[in-house]
Amino acid sequence: MAGAASEAALADVPFLDVGAINARHADELKAAVARVIDSGWYVMGAELAAFEHEFAAWCGVPRALGVGNGLDALALILRGYLQLGALREGDEVIVPGNTFIASFLAVSANRLLPVPVEPDPSSFNLDPACVEAAIGPRTRAIMAVHLYGQLADMPALAALAARHRLLLIEDAAQAHGAACDGRRAGAFGDAAAFSFFPAKNLGALGDGGAVVTADARLARQVAALRNYGSEVKYRHLCQGVNSRLDEIQAAMLRVKLRHLDEDVARRRAVARRYRDGISHAQIRLPQVAHEEGHAWHLFVVRCARRDALQRHLLAHGIHSQVHYPVPPHRQPAYPELHHLRLPLTERLHDEVLSLPMDPTLGDDAVQRVIDACQTFRCPP
Ligand SMILES: *Cc1c(COP(=O)(O)O)cnc(C)c1O
Repeated sequence: MAGAASEAALADVPFLDVGAINARHADELKAAVARVIDSGWYVMGAELAAFEHEFAAWCGVPRALGVGNGLDALALILRGYLQLGALREGDEVIVPGNTFIASFLAVSANRLLPVPVEPDPSSFNLDPACVEAAIGPRTRAIMAVHLYGQLADMPALAALAARHRLLLIEDAAQAHGAACDGRRAGAFGDAAAFSFFPAKNLGALGDGGAVVTADARLARQVAALRNYGSEVKYRHLCQGVNSRLDEIQAAMLRVKLRHLDEDVARRRAVARRYRDGISHAQIRLPQVAHEEGHAWHLFVVRCARRDALQRHLLAHGIHSQVHYPVPPHRQPAYPELHHLRLPLTERLHDEVLSLPMDPTLGDDAVQRVIDACQTFRCPP
């Protein structure tokens, strides 16, 4: 079996290689760390201010505020609106049933109620018709998640939010670089949360997040909340938290922001190859409404025999992951939501598989993923 032997000699195709992503910029990153070390200033300084300015401009939004992580970014947006009186404890926030649990946790941590709804079957994102059907007397906000990096239908959701006087919040943790008519993720809602977890499209070398908003009153609240509720040292306007983006991470993110457009372009090129190359009756490719609308944080296929497909790929040295195996409303963390029935959400969780997606993925590796998919035979 010469074929098998030569295949065995090939290195595995990793799902994601964060080390390789950062190695491309090692000199710039090390110079930036050295600059911060030498400055003697490590929290709430010039690097953060510069990154906030640069990231806001990149998103096309007036203000960005660095925080400790993406979950805090989401939670502080809601907390800020509670402070401003736009939300009250017990209010309902419509969330996609089909999301990472952080979208739910930010809501419930603020004593608001997450109301999960079913997704649009082609995009896996919020279905505006399902959102509208879920709006009740206590509904005060919609949280749109740009799942896998694809923009939710923001024009429709914005119209719905305006009609029902609801806040529209974007969970853009996966969607740095997704756009619609030149407007980027983060520029559609009242406020948006980004994550800079190392594996995200714009990843720090540790944890980080940001709130972006055009709402000056909210920006002021979040700026205080993230720093002990304080605008002036030792004067506390509200009971804040400590959730700051430190100077080293801000400096790392400034370096990586300069390369983000290239990385998103490479993600799109990898996705294009997968979409052109994979043609298999049992593997459903992601549906894309328009090319710029997807930043390809993840390339997610659907397969009724998902676990068999994952084993088959691994036998060919291809590493894949499941995003996500269990929806939030079925997690032990949310017993109060176990009674909900979201059949489409639940089926998606049984069928989705994320193929390797990484801006450093070479054409040969992409071809091996395609070839391995093509040789999948459904077990009886
Ligand atoms: C990663 C992620 C978050 C949370 O970001 P962290 O920085 O890990 O806290 C929130 N929502 C979604 C959709 C995510 O993918």
